[in-house]
Amino acid sequence: MSYSIVIHCRCWEAGLTPPPPTPVHRDDDDLFSPLPDDHFLEDGRRPFIAVDEWKETACAHKHMYLVHEWVANTSGMSSYRWALEQVDPVGYAPVLQVLPRFNDDIIEVEEVPPALAALRYALTDPRFDALDADDASYARHLSKLLEGVFAVAEKTGERVHWL
Ligand SMILES: [Zn+2]
Repeated sequence: MSYSIVIHCRCWEAGLTPPPPTPVHRDDDDLFSPLPDDHFLEDGRRPFIAVDEWKETACAHKHMYLVHEWVANTSGMSSYRWALEQVDPVGYAPVLQVLPRFNDDIIEVEEVPPALAALRYALTDPRFDALDADDASYARHLSKLLEGVFAVAEKTGERVHWL
């Protein structure tokens, strides 16, 4: 298993996309749901498939993702969690609590600023040097990657999704 992280774009809400092939709404997980979804379209496609295809090219963002980054596999995520806990489990609690517990986990808007501040601190935190060099370097790499994603989330006011 592995973890990717995404932020959805709002081009549809902003009227920047061609109309979807069937009426849609965004559900509580920010996903597009066709309305209704229990019929075939005139071209014989199922609504979910047609909407998925529409998302591929509906705007400048592939699959309507503003950000889409592969982050780590399960063992990489475990070693990052371990590194943060070794260095400062209290100081890095805002990061630890937004690391994925499962795929499809969602980071809420209010969790973003404290996590971003902790990630920025981690980038130059000398306490990581007490770890094995590979562990320290990997932790800094993931902190940098997540810092970039969370900076976009803070700027746009969007939730962050683990896939
Ligand atoms: Zn877009």
